[in-house]
Amino acid sequence: MAAEKALALVVRGTDWSETSRITTLFTREFGKVQALAKGGRRLKSNFEVAFDLLTVCQVVFLRKDHGGLDLLTEARMEERFPVLRSDLHALYAGYYVAELLAHGTQDYDPHPPLFDAAIQTLRSLGDPLQPVSDSVTAFELVWLKELGYSPRLDACAACGSRVAAGVPQVFFSPSAGGVVCSACGPVAPDRRPLSAAGLDALRGLAAEGESPLSPGIDPTVRGELRGLLGQVVSFVLGRRPRLLGYVEGR
Ligand SMILES: [Zn+2]
Repeated sequence: MAAEKALALVVRGTDWSETSRITTLFTREFGKVQALAKGGRRLKSNFEVAFDLLTVCQVVFLRKDHGGLDLLTEARMEERFPVLRSDLHALYAGYYVAELLAHGTQDYDPHPPLFDAAIQTLRSLGDPLQPVSDSVTAFELVWLKELGYSPRLDACAACGSRVAAGVPQVFFSPSAGGVVCSACGPVAPDRRPLSAAGLDALRGLAAEGESPLSPGIDPTVRGELRGLLGQVVSFVLGRRPRLLGYVEGR
């Protein structure tokens, strides 16, 4: 077994037995890692932090060669997000980020930009100038991009014809993978209308690329984007995220 060091965000903690516990970490270096902490209770001072959801810690773990759980040997707290203890909307948004990392990514499939976006999102939750829903929307776009599902916004995802800015209304289809033109829209079963302002806001957010922090989204399109991104994320995940209802329209 090789000893690995990583910067990790705790995305799930599960009790295992009297003496051992399992934690799910999303690490910057290795992606998702599920590790067993033997003597998790006896060695509480070493491990306690690695079971607190949404805590960032430096960890050392022994990587199993042939499947099975890795063995956590060290965990040192690096960062916490105090707003999660005082603001319920922020806490739900944090849980939602954890859910997308825990259930939307594979073990040992690293995505450093996604890790960085998660940390940025959690930090932004305390920012009074950044509405929680905008942070969530920006995070979802990075999540989709890293998983290879960036929605196509410049042209019809079905036929490739250009969708010009300023068209009063287009359609959006998660299964087609982006905007669809007025000719293709009617045959996309999961189409939803998308306003010109909504398309503009989406293009702006997607163009920001690495930075999940956006200037505020126009309040009139905020709800529209939440509904749309929720549908896209549910499509990619294969089910509706458990926490989605708690981050809609906040
Ligand atoms: Zn088309």
